[in-house]
Amino acid sequence: MSPSITGGCACGGIRYQTQTEPEFSIICQCRQCQRITGSGHAAAFAVNTDATRLQGKIKYYQTQADDGSTVSSGFCKNCGNPVVKKTSGYPQYLFFHAATLDDPACFEPQMVVYTESAQPWDHIDPRLQRR
Ligand SMILES: [Zn+2]
Ligand SMILES: [Zn+2]
Repeated sequence: MSPSITGGCACGGIRYQTQTEPEFSIICQCRQCQRITGSGHAAAFAVNTDATRLQGKIKYYQTQADDGSTVSSGFCKNCGNPVVKKTSGYPQYLFFHAATLDDPACFEPQMVVYTESAQPWDHIDPRLQRR
């Protein structure tokens, strides 16, 4: 990806910009991501919180993960578009949904996580590393 990464929600009410490269990029098949996206998985990348500017009216929906950490899903109060995720287990990262990028084609997934909750109809590139 380019050094300056920008994106936002469908209505433009939430915008983000980061100057750093993504730390890592994932496809997540956990049940929460399935519900948030209404699909079989979320595609997301992690960036350093301190190097990222996030603006707009974000509503956070919080859930408790199996490991006890608090996971927050941030979406736009106006258009409902899920944009960002945070977890208390990794407070140094913001996770952005790949399709919120201004240039979604620059997203490069590196690994698949929570494959144990994958749906039988959700087919992921078999060359990707599984966690
Ligand atoms: Zn919006
Ligand atoms: Zn997930």
